Amino acid sequence: MTRRTKLWLLFVVIWLAVLSIRIPVWSQPSIYETIREAHRLLEQIDEPSHQTIASIAQARLDRPRAIDVTHYHLQIELTPDPPRLAGAVTIEGRATAPVEAIQIDAYENLIIDAVRSDGIALPFQRTADRIILGLPHALSTGESFTITVDYHGVPVTSGVLGGGMLVARHGAVYVMANLSEPYAAPTWWPCIDHPSDKATIDIEAVVPRAYVVASNGVLERVEPVGNRKTRYVWREEYPIATYLVSVAATNYVQFEESYIALDGRTTMPLVYYVYPEHLAAAQQKFPVTRSAMEIFAPLFGEYPFLAEKYGMVEFPWGGAMEHQTMTSMGDRIVHLGDLTVQDFISHELAHQWWGDWVTLATWHDIWLNEGFATYSEVLFFERFYGWDPGELMDRSYDDHRAFGRMGGTVYAEDLENPFDDHGAIYTKGAWVLHMLRHILGEREFFAMLKDYGRRFAFANASTEDFQRVCEDHYGAPMDWFFQQWIFAPGRPIYHVEWEVMPTETSDDYTVLLSVEQVQPQRIPGRPEELERVYIMPIDITLHYDDGSSETRVIWNDARRQEFTFVVPRPPTRIGFDEGHWVLKEVR
Ligand SMILES: [Zn+2]
Repeated sequence: MTRRTKLWLLFVVIWLAVLSIRIPVWSQPSIYETIREAHRLLEQIDEPSHQTIASIAQARLDRPRAIDVTHYHLQIELTPDPPRLAGAVTIEGRATAPVEAIQIDAYENLIIDAVRSDGIALPFQRTADRIILGLPHALSTGESFTITVDYHGVPVTSGVLGGGMLVARHGAVYVMANLSEPYAAPTWWPCIDHPSDKATIDIEAVVPRAYVVASNGVLERVEPVGNRKTRYVWREEYPIATYLVSVAATNYVQFEESYIALDGRTTMPLVYYVYPEHLAAAQQKFPVTRSAMEIFAPLFGEYPFLAEKYGMVEFPWGGAMEHQTMTSMGDRIVHLGDLTVQDFISHELAHQWWGDWVTLATWHDIWLNEGFATYSEVLFFERFYGWDPGELMDRSYDDHRAFGRMGGTVYAEDLENPFDDHGAIYTKGAWVLHMLRHILGEREFFAMLKDYGRRFAFANASTEDFQRVCEDHYGAPMDWFFQQWIFAPGRPIYHVEWEVMPTETSDDYTVLLSVEQVQPQRIPGRPEELERVYIMPIDITLHYDDGSSETRVIWNDARRQEFTFVVPRPPTRIGFDEGHWVLKEVR
């Protein structure tokens, strides 16, 4: 072999190595398609509940908000064969207004053995989805209480709520793990099930001896219970919403790596619990988590649960669920392609900020979880591979149809199934952030995101709260933006025409651009003359024959509007939002 050949081979080897690390867009024309399919898969199976019971949803609406839970102590025994649950929940809280009865959510598959307070049994009334406790004396505002509920039951494994404590087998071994979002937590543990009532929680789970339990927060200890069982004690000291509380148990094997915080000193474990037969695949696929963490922390603010950990645990479901500090990953995900796994990992990790740290105020606001996590996929791909975010949004997150799969409203109108219109809450929700990014500008947009996180840290935010933060960074009211993009269905449909004419008084040329909006939908909250008008700044790019171009911004706020530009030479082509910063259909 000659020296030249060796050098040439060395070059090829290095180039192949580079290719395997970073996949350039041009080398794989199907990348946009792959990401499109990956996200679609995520959206479809990330949609937890098809058959939410109306009465449960109704309960979310009419709950008297007179109780604030501060801490839960959940003791639960999981028996897989036959599937059984048994446990005790101690609820500590206080009254935020005078209270005569406390209502605790507990679905009818749970049999309530007793309700106790200070060692005294309390009388209670049972409904299909609640326990109503008569108190020995009414609680006055600010008065605290401690109540323990003893219960047992058969897990609701599927169908009824689309979630609950799932029981399945991988090979010959059982796995039990929950999926509670949005309303299924009370099918496996009694609680005050509203996302706005966060509390800390200690979880003690007793399982068959060969099982390992993965859960929220920090693992305090593992201890034998007789000869045949083991108790795992986990403690979550950050406030957590009930739908994010999670217990997963099977013969998991564990591996971990560590994340170095933004301060350059603090380290935090990244812990992965997988089926033994998936260990090799997971060891290959999961480490991208650290890269995603290193991408998100500078953008959103430090990982919110730094004193504990971030983990992922396999569970018997198709999708993934962002349980606080311990995401549950469907047990088939590890076998999917790299880009698809990266899509899931980045989406669920981003939920730790958007969903877990800042939690939706009501299920109407689910886009604040899902739109944010979806746009975070794009932020991850943008920074990990160096891809253009507009190109990604256009090619992987758009069907280019005004009333296609993203044709609904971003605001979830139907509380019986807030995930119903998933194209709108996930993908159109992501477009809302993408558009805000261009309107606010790069610096201000990311400053706004961090500010939003800080203001609602470990608490809850509504769509209105988010709008206020955007307005503070925009420096003016943004009703015009939120009305059309959050509360109206569809998107604008534009007709665009242009012509170039020499000016009469100089050597310059006049470009006449006419923009017409032809979409039929009304925008709520608008005066009549603007009720069918999308108000948006739009980039117009003038291209010249020498290959140069310039971009000007028009403020489009009428159904039919003309814009003129005076230019020194005639453009050969005009681009209408060619950076893909506006969700639209152009006809
Ligand atoms: Zn999600």
